[in-house]
Amino acid sequence: MNILVINAGSSSLKYQLYNMETEDVLAKGRVERIGMDSSILTHEVDNQPEVREVSEILDHTTAIKKVLDMLTHKKFGVLRNMSDIQAVGHRVVHGGESFSRSVLVDQAVKLEIRKLFDLAPLHNPAHMMGIAAVEANLPEVPQAVVFDTAFHQTMPPISYLYAIPTVLYSKHKIRRYGFHGTSHDYVSKKAADFLGRPLSELKLITCHIGNGASCAAILYGQSYDTSMGMTPLEGLMMGTRSGDLDPAIVPYTINKEDLTLNEVNSMLNKHSGLLAISGISSDMREVVDAMKEGNEKAKLAFEMYAYRIRKYIGSYVAAMDGVDAIVFTAGVGENSDALRKEVCQGLTFFGVQLSGERNAVRSSEPRRITSDDSKVSVLVVPTNEELLIARDTYNLVLEQHQTITEADSDEQSNEGE
Ligand code: AMP
Repeated sequence: MNILVINAGSSSLKYQLYNMETEDVLAKGRVERIGMDSSILTHEVDNQPEVREVSEILDHTTAIKKVLDMLTHKKFGVLRNMSDIQAVGHRVVHGGESFSRSVLVDQAVKLEIRKLFDLAPLHNPAHMMGIAAVEANLPEVPQAVVFDTAFHQTMPPISYLYAIPTVLYSKHKIRRYGFHGTSHDYVSKKAADFLGRPLSELKLITCHIGNGASCAAILYGQSYDTSMGMTPLEGLMMGTRSGDLDPAIVPYTINKEDLTLNEVNSMLNKHSGLLAISGISSDMREVVDAMKEGNEKAKLAFEMYAYRIRKYIGSYVAAMDGVDAIVFTAGVGENSDALRKEVCQGLTFFGVQLSGERNAVRSSEPRRITSDDSKVSVLVVPTNEELLIARDTYNLVLEQHQTITEADSDEQSNEGE
């Protein structure tokens, strides 16, 4: 079965085509600048030069049409025709309290996702455009939705409630949802495989440290707490997001700087974090390079960034009354040995002994970076959110086939009676 995984944004769309028998990526790419006259489609197939096509792509339906044309292209394609795509899986950022697992798309699911537009105004409407675009191009093909928030729906009220009047929760669903759930789910399973122990016996802390960043406390296979909140702004210091701060700073800044609420919101989401403190970049590579050249602001940004991760790890050890392994993943977590070292050097009191040699190894495979006598293991596990979306979609489609086959055979045996 071939499954197309789509991550639709408001003006961009990423895709990966999987063969589910082998879990190989047959092709991947992205469409950028949707809605403009010079949109760019970039298409990659293993061992072949990247293809780049500039054309006018005014909406998501045209973008999907272009992707399908490319996937079935005589020279650059990997499929004979569109019927070689058996299902489509979409990443959806916000599933609110309505979705605690991935589901196949139907009218009721679409209605629920629409109801959540308020909670994720930048993301969910774009995902819906992606779903509608696939429907327009491949009307017979089943689609599934995989939510960033779903994995965290197991959090207990002590983790997900904010200490504010409860009417705000009952009326407006203001609570912690958490994000990067697909990644925390994927790497926690991989970590258990690597450790050779059942996930249901493990206390894990997973640190998804990319441009956006979050930590999760995963108790016996279920999310118990996570650092992002109602939106992805809360928690760790990130590339351009502030993470945790005193909420009183918002009205104070509005008054002192004569800013609007939207301007402060934009400041906290787009002009804070690593970028603000380093004054250089939101990209950790550039911050580390500047620090090595003696830039003091870059050093402060790097240390603050690591310190916040360390504090969250400490708090999750307390939340779960222990930890078996800490897992680093995503762009910074997988690639920056300097950051991992800075985080772990403050964790010796509960038994983390980092191995400098192992921490310096680069690999695309899961690996341990602590010494053999370390009481707590620290692992680096490359994440793969697209693969998890493809797997969930595959399983949902198989379940559906099975249900239909069982219903058919029940009907036949009733007719025979
Ligand atoms: P992601 O959001 O997971 O794609 O991660 C993006 C972030 O990973 C960017 O801020 C990059 O700077 C960071 N990154 C990628 N490679 C490295 C590296 N070798 N060292 C430090 N940061 C890196």
